[in-house]
Formats: sequence, C-alpha cells, structure tokens
Amino acid sequence: MTWNKPLPNVDEDIAPFWEACKRHEFALFRCKSCGAWYWPAAFCRNHKNEPFYGNMEWAKASGRGRVFAFNIHYRPFHTGFKDDVPYVYALIELDEGPIFSSNIIGCKPQEVKIGMPVEVVFEDISEKFSLPKFRPIG
Ligand SMILES: [Zn+2]
Repeated sequence: MTWNKPLPNVDEDIAPFWEACKRHEFALFRCKSCGAWYWPAAFCRNHKNEPFYGNMEWAKASGRGRVFAFNIHYRPFHTGFKDDVPYVYALIELDEGPIFSSNIIGCKPQEVKIGMPVEVVFEDISEKFSLPKFRPIG
C-alpha cells in the first residue's frame, strides 16, 4: 500500500508520542509531581509558581475516552482521502482529561454519537508511523 496522505509533522517535543504509537502505545504528557495529564505537551498548570512548572514525562495512558464532538466529512480535504469519504473527524475527551482529535473508525459514520465510549486502535502506515484512531468499545 502506498501512503498518499499527509504525514504527521514531528519535532523533538512530540517525537516520543510517535515512537510510542509505533509500539502501539498511547502516550500522553504527565506531571510527575501531581499526576495531571496533558495533550499536547505542556507545562503543568498546578505548579505555576515553582521552577520548571512541574516535572513532566511521557507516560502510557488508557487510550480510552468518549466522543466529545464530531463531524462527518463527505468531501475529502486532500486527494489522499478521496476513497475514504464519508469519514468521521472527532474530538475525543480522554479518560485522563485531555481532548484529542482523531478519526472514528470501526462503525458507520451515522452510528457515531456524542458521549460514545471509544478506544484507541493503531493503523500502521509506514516504517515510521502508526496513526492512533478510535473505535467504539464493545
Ligand atoms: Zn503537576
């Protein structure tokens, strides 16, 4: 299969996230001091007055959440997606709290509902990348 869609933009801040995806692990940024989770990578809001704003690390997250908002795309925004329409682009409220954007797969677009429980599934698209997508649980 030839991948003809855009690839993720990777800089050194986000590289550990994509390395985890390659291992089929869903990682989020977490504060070692208080356990707060972040996406995208950020400083912990709970330590504004401390040096380094907390002690951050990438940690394995549950990969579960609920559909927070979504829309169904009937027209591809990029020619690489022309065979995929209609597809669902969604905001997923992760169990850890952060909101993550991805596609919902594994069901018909019309079956996607706000609040629907979903879990991550990884699509291997190249030697370097596995994309995190979400499917209904159960
Ligand atoms: Zn913290």
